[in-house]
Amino acid sequence: MATGRWLTHVNLVRGLVLLLLGVVSLSAVATEVKGVRVWPSPDSTRVVLDLSGPPDYSHFTLSGPNRLVIDLKSARNKVALEALDSKGLVTRIRSSAAPSAGGLRLVLDLKGEVRPVLFPLRPAEPYGDRLVIDLFPKAEAPAASSSSASGAGVIKSVATTAGQRDVVIAIDAGHGGEDPGAIGPKKTKEKKVTLSIARKVAAQLDAEPGIKAVLIRTGDYYVNLNRRTELARQHGADLLVSIHADAVASRTPHGASAWVLSSRRAQSELGRWLEQHEKQSELLGGAGDLLQGSSERYLTQALLDMSMDHSREIGFSVSRRVLQEMGKVTHLHKRHPESASLAVLKAPDIPSLLIETGFISNPAEEKKLATDAHQTKLARAIVRGIKSHFVELPPEGTLLAAAKASGKPLRASQQSTLTTAAAGSRKHKVTRGESLSVLARRYNTSVAALVRANDLSDENIRIGQVLTIPGS
Ligand SMILES: [Zn+2]
Repeated sequence: MATGRWLTHVNLVRGLVLLLLGVVSLSAVATEVKGVRVWPSPDSTRVVLDLSGPPDYSHFTLSGPNRLVIDLKSARNKVALEALDSKGLVTRIRSSAAPSAGGLRLVLDLKGEVRPVLFPLRPAEPYGDRLVIDLFPKAEAPAASSSSASGAGVIKSVATTAGQRDVVIAIDAGHGGEDPGAIGPKKTKEKKVTLSIARKVAAQLDAEPGIKAVLIRTGDYYVNLNRRTELARQHGADLLVSIHADAVASRTPHGASAWVLSSRRAQSELGRWLEQHEKQSELLGGAGDLLQGSSERYLTQALLDMSMDHSREIGFSVSRRVLQEMGKVTHLHKRHPESASLAVLKAPDIPSLLIETGFISNPAEEKKLATDAHQTKLARAIVRGIKSHFVELPPEGTLLAAAKASGKPLRASQQSTLTTAAAGSRKHKVTRGESLSVLARRYNTSVAALVRANDLSDENIRIGQVLTIPGS
């Protein structure tokens, strides 16, 4: 991949620079910038500086042109910055005159205005000390421009046509980017295995009538754990499946397992959610606006409790079925779903499960997990498990529910599409990146007609808002 080639190149140049500098030994206490990695993702760009020790740093932004300036105290650069390609939001990284003697000033030339978030990371295999610079585009207003519509890479707008929609399954490939996950004895990285399996699961689910898949991560970049559940929510996911591969110190354990949210963790997460009013509103599908008064807090709690119990029940049912199917294609490490306090499982409103596809620390399983054939088998089993739950217990208002009620299985042609013309008006739930003009184009109507049909006071819409789409 491009990243690999680029890194090799940087390593080569870095090697040369090191050779040249080797003769001139500078101050021993200075922190060295030993490497620079840039990880672009659909949402943000992460820049990571590899350092010889913990950084003492400050930063500020400049506009016209947009730049981020990072000052490192008592530091020097050992990276051939001019060899770095333009990536994500960063067009160039260069050094500039430092404000104090012995310091290092790095300037990041940017493609636009950003909100930077900087934090140091302590050494963790396979890395040493690092400074992480996350750059978020400033024009990140919710449901804003169509350019952000590429958000999670695959946007599956949930169009409700005459009360029938697809079941939406969010597939999360564990780890990514700076976070390799577990690393096998043959150096197979978990983040790579999880992405391949996730892609296969998503493709196979998409081929199922009445089911749509959303990939939470579409490339080699890290997505914050909270952001993963947030993305699933924004896509209106009925289920979030996080895919991983286990690792332990011993090479013996092997086989797959599945995890669901433990109820203790669920309770503490619930408490945290209640303190965040805007989330509460989102969680309740807009009803939260009415419930925010303190006197109604009790009612909100009851509603959330119900939602959480429901989520855990579904998560458990799907895990059980997935394990049953996986047991046919691979060894099971644990035959029953386990309860865990894992961050990615914590959304109280979205049924979630985490699948460990096998032990990457087991040499034989590591080899298998890296093969296309085994990944396909695992993906097929996961899909069969998910499908079995949703065909048997489809959420209300879905095509699968309609098919169950009619007693006839869905044909591929019955899959809901955005262009399905239903008589009269339709409903549309706003997802990230959508604006009135995007929706007007999609539904072949005008912004003015949408404003009228929904009695809007301006053109601002928010995620989760249900809009009436006027009939043609
Ligand atoms: Zn993992």
